[in-house]
Amino acid sequence: MASLGIPANTIEILKKYNFSFQKKFGQNFLIDTHILEKIIEESHITKDDCVLEIGPGIGTMTQYLAENARHVVAVEIDKSLIPILEDTLSEYDNVTVLNADILKTDIQAICDEYNNGKPIKVVANLPYYITTPIIMGLFESHVPLKSITIMVQKEVAERMKEGPGSKDYGALSLAVQYYADPEIVAEVSPNCFIPKPNVGSAVIRLTRYEKPPVNVEDENFMFALIRASFNQRRKTLSNGISNAGLGISREQVTKALEQMELSPTVRGEALTLEQFANLSNILKK
Ligand code: SAM
Repeated sequence: MASLGIPANTIEILKKYNFSFQKKFGQNFLIDTHILEKIIEESHITKDDCVLEIGPGIGTMTQYLAENARHVVAVEIDKSLIPILEDTLSEYDNVTVLNADILKTDIQAICDEYNNGKPIKVVANLPYYITTPIIMGLFESHVPLKSITIMVQKEVAERMKEGPGSKDYGALSLAVQYYADPEIVAEVSPNCFIPKPNVGSAVIRLTRYEKPPVNVEDENFMFALIRASFNQRRKTLSNGISNAGLGISREQVTKALEQMELSPTVRGEALTLEQFANLSNILKK
């Protein structure tokens, strides 16, 4: 099968199956061989790797993954794409297509079945409407992962890398930076997709840390504090946390901030990951 990264081949398949794009599934298919090659190169896949692809579409990137990895498991929600994938991937015996919603998929079971429970690599051109739940789900479920190399909306890629002082710094930045080392490896124009999305895109690689960069006694508690701080962005940290129903009083937060030599009126967006970890450890006591 000729590469679907060549626009004429994608158009031919779409016509053959009379496929209609579903906006609700965030369907924008890649039609640029350079970008596809760049994603494969930056995901550092080898013939030892088992790759999870989220949303294979008509199988454009799946073909490249199958050429470069030992095994590919591709999870696609749209059942009208399944017969198309059977056709476009018919040459490969190392691809398993599952018709399922990734947010309801047991990824640990995929690691167990296809990679003996060892860490997998995730590679995807993500459906943008569920970028955050997919990333948070992958990290918080603690499935064994080596890296996640994904196409996302450009602003979202930037948010994952931000630190204190930026308006884009938030719960997603802190979660990503706690679990992984983020690196933006390509910027991608809307012209590289069919249909064209109305936002710019970027490819970001998140390399999972073996050990998080900060020490936290209770991860869930730290993330509850982070969410409480950013849920009410305009409020001070002490108001945000004491109003969040976590059983922590304003006085307790103020005292902890004093211990950390921070102002009692500081806002969540001014704290680094390390400071959130410290705050969490102090309040936990
Ligand atoms: N990988 C293809 C490519 O690069 O051309 C398609 C990428 S397209 C941006 C996103 C894909 O994710 C679509 O095929 C869409 O149907 C699928 N998708 C959307 N929501 C999904 C979900 N919850 N679980 C699995 N796949 C999903």
